[in-house]
Amino acid sequence: MVVMKFGGTSMGNPDAIRRCAELVERDIKQRGKKPVVVVSAYSKITDKLLDAAKRAVKGDIDGPVHEIAKRHHEILKGLDLPKEIGEKNLSELHDLLRGIHMVKEVTPRLYDYVSSFGERLSSKTFAALLRARGHGDSEAINAYDLGFTTDSRFMNARPLPDTYEKIAEAFKPHAHKLVVITGFIGKDKNGDITTIGRSGSDYTAAIFGAALGVDEIQVWKDVPGVMTSDPTVIKDAHPLPKLSFEEASELAYYGAEVLHPATMVPAMKRGIPVRVLHTFDPEAPGTVITPHGETDSKHPVKSIVYKEDQVLINVRSERMLGTEGFMARMFNIFERNHIVIDMISTSEVSVSMTTDVTEGHKLDTLRRDLEEIAKVDIQKDKCIVALVGEGMKHTVGLAARAFKSVAASQVSLQMISQGASEINITFLIDNSQIPTVIKGLHKEFFG
Ligand code: ADP
Ligand code: ASP
Ligand code: MG
Repeated sequence: MVVMKFGGTSMGNPDAIRRCAELVERDIKQRGKKPVVVVSAYSKITDKLLDAAKRAVKGDIDGPVHEIAKRHHEILKGLDLPKEIGEKNLSELHDLLRGIHMVKEVTPRLYDYVSSFGERLSSKTFAALLRARGHGDSEAINAYDLGFTTDSRFMNARPLPDTYEKIAEAFKPHAHKLVVITGFIGKDKNGDITTIGRSGSDYTAAIFGAALGVDEIQVWKDVPGVMTSDPTVIKDAHPLPKLSFEEASELAYYGAEVLHPATMVPAMKRGIPVRVLHTFDPEAPGTVITPHGETDSKHPVKSIVYKEDQVLINVRSERMLGTEGFMARMFNIFERNHIVIDMISTSEVSVSMTTDVTEGHKLDTLRRDLEEIAKVDIQKDKCIVALVGEGMKHTVGLAARAFKSVAASQVSLQMISQGASEINITFLIDNSQIPTVIKGLHKEFFG
């Protein structure tokens, strides 16, 4: 058995959705078994829902609801499906937004409740389409009704350890059906809906794949696999046939939007391959991610990725940096402020760190607290660039090549770091320098 996960673009319009149904049918024919299907919301709907939640505070409710309903109805119409599908969800959403207006506040818990409707609608549509195509046993089931439970960190929740057993148990009575599961959403122990972070449906697919012990976790996208760089910036980026779990995790962590960074965790635990495939070119081999991957001495760097909108925090203290306990106090302040550090580098008198927390009020409090022990300088609009590849461990001179290429673009690096695993080199530039730097590096390492 396999898990087949279809992303937002694959669920973007009637033609694309029909293609996904054909892919499911092709898989059933090839394997003689039903896959477990996981779907994202229709493309851009999660953004629309989050925006609707925000606008509801000010009483702007009907416009956003109609817009979302219109998109859903157009898709149903394009697929010749009854208009009533998901009608209850739409009226629940309407009520919820009115409730937000009444309390004049939207909390992370409510953002999650509102954004859950994206996957709750698309899963119903897809299961209805499969039924209409002759798969009478197809059923849409919310992930949380199949045992998917998380902690209560709304908007970025993580599965509870016993989720895997719960899913395996809850799935049993449905095992004979063609089940379509909502990506992205779960419930905490109190029964409140949670979400597992943007692009989380990949992660849902991996969690269900691991819980059900499938042979392969397939994520179907609008790209021919994980590529040498972001194809929207690098026109001649090409797909990578093989990656190790570690490489894929690093790529995702450092911004390759193509996979949710936690996707590899459950797959790694159970040693299940993850395959990234192209919905609109299903014969293309895609990328297979396995425990060991494959290194190619000609291309020690596999991919160049970047994560924009980072914040640089420089902490400077001539007096205290060398003294014991300073770092502990500093990290303590970050912990207290719930600010996660990504990159870090130190000199004799200063420490530079980056974070992706950009909210002004959080940074203000952090600054105030840090200023009690040191001088602080905070700069926004930074970008982490990472070169990733297992082959980098055994190759000398890669950093020199990378830095030379960046220097040739007239850009100066603001921070440099290499992880202990030696499969990445990361550095910091300005957001505005992304296209120049990435293009230069891609040319240097992939010709
Ligand atoms: P999904 O359809 O599952 O939501 P995403 O849109 O989240 O898929 O991810 C696919 C997108 O990721 C591509 O359209 C591409 O623009 C972007 N992307 C960024 N970096 C890479 C990369 N290194 N390889 C492939 N795609 C990438
Ligand atoms: N719909 C969610 C999002 O847009 C999850 C996903 O697409 O994977 O982030
Ligand atoms: Mg996505």
